[in-house]
Amino acid sequence: MSHTIMQRDYQTEQRAQAYIDEVFSQIKQRDPHETEFHQAVDVIFKSIKPALVKNPAYIDNRILERLTEPERLITFRVPWVDDEGTVQVNRGFRVQFNSAIGPYKGGLRFHPTVNSSVVKFLGFQQIFKNALTGQPIGGGKGGADFDPKGKSDGEIMRFCQSFMTESSQHIGPDTDVPAGDIGVGARELGYLFGQYKKLRGRFEAGALTGKSLNFGGSLGRKEATGYGTIYFVENMMKDKGLNIEGKRVVVSGSGNVSIHAMEKAIELGAIVVACSDSDGYIHDENGIHLETVKQLKEIENRRIRDYVDYHPQSVYVEGCSGIWTIPCEIALPCATQNEISGSAAQTLIKNGVKVVAEGANMPSTTAAVEQFIASDILYAPAKAANAGGVAVSSLEMAQNSSRIAWTFEEVDKKLKDIMTDIYHNCSEAAKAYSAPGNLVVGANIAGFIKVADAMTEQGVI
Ligand code: GLU
Repeated sequence: MSHTIMQRDYQTEQRAQAYIDEVFSQIKQRDPHETEFHQAVDVIFKSIKPALVKNPAYIDNRILERLTEPERLITFRVPWVDDEGTVQVNRGFRVQFNSAIGPYKGGLRFHPTVNSSVVKFLGFQQIFKNALTGQPIGGGKGGADFDPKGKSDGEIMRFCQSFMTESSQHIGPDTDVPAGDIGVGARELGYLFGQYKKLRGRFEAGALTGKSLNFGGSLGRKEATGYGTIYFVENMMKDKGLNIEGKRVVVSGSGNVSIHAMEKAIELGAIVVACSDSDGYIHDENGIHLETVKQLKEIENRRIRDYVDYHPQSVYVEGCSGIWTIPCEIALPCATQNEISGSAAQTLIKNGVKVVAEGANMPSTTAAVEQFIASDILYAPAKAANAGGVAVSSLEMAQNSSRIAWTFEEVDKKLKDIMTDIYHNCSEAAKAYSAPGNLVVGANIAGFIKVADAMTEQGVI
């Protein structure tokens, strides 16, 4: 390479880095309290410099400023009446982050921690996750600081109806399509859909996904996030001549993602030795009985600590972070954001973990991600590993539009193929951008390029 070319490359690289730094500091200045959002942006910005160097038009088109500023952030009042007759007021959100490749798509989270930072971090990641699925869906997210814990069925219904009264003005099958996330499952989606239908005066099935099978839901959607995470793990391990059979697996959480990740892992011959809820975790070296977990969490709405009453050989430990001290070959964080600290990551690595795949969104802190990347473990970031849920949501939209329902086997086969494609695309992008094996770089670059190109082709809008 001639001296001048080398110099030019160096200058382009410097320009790209200066641009990234400038935009990141603007973002932090503008909304200093949005720490989760900054963390999600940082992860993307740390990966994409080579893409900006290769295509400086992204800089000229100010793609980073445009990507990090939501197209729309809606904040609204959610008033409802509790069982005592008292008026309650929660804060609702919908972030319509990016529609470059399709209608906004992303779940709703009902949890006391929901605020603009959490909604924006989730919505921002959703843009790239959705792009990776290969489906025509943009990025969005929403929710409320409502705590469903301990609420009656009637309270949940009234809250969902009030939440939808406002949301219905902003969503629709070709506009913005919400689904579930933490605290929003089939029951909530039923109430949300009922209210949407009533307000619209039309049966627009494709306005929400994750619906009940009785009114337009897709077979396989419930299982998709958890199963998809395991299909992704299978792909990663296969590439290294490894497989899941006989491996010890630690899974945090005991919600929808966690339960179906455990189910598929067990089906493939793994031994799931621990799972948790927000109070603590259970541990059994001989393997957790999934049916008991399902009975407690899905049907009886009880706490995971009650598991030991049915399986006295198992142990319950109060508090969640200790789950990562249990030796295992495969760790699947499927609970919530920032659940793996830097030191928990260190312990996992020291104890011989071979694979970490994120079923939850951003479960690893920045320090934990650095540890995983620096080690030689296989690490699958959430955008890639948990994309199966939203991918099957998109298949639900396709079925709703065509008024045809696919079998479970058809959906599951499509999900498998999508997860395999995501793995190969991330892995190829990592190689092409000089970071072989680094799926964080691979996922971020592959997702970014697709969205940035679509935005560029559509002009400055
Ligand atoms: N909340 C899920 C996610 O984080 C699913 C979103 C959807 O199906 O739209 O991807």
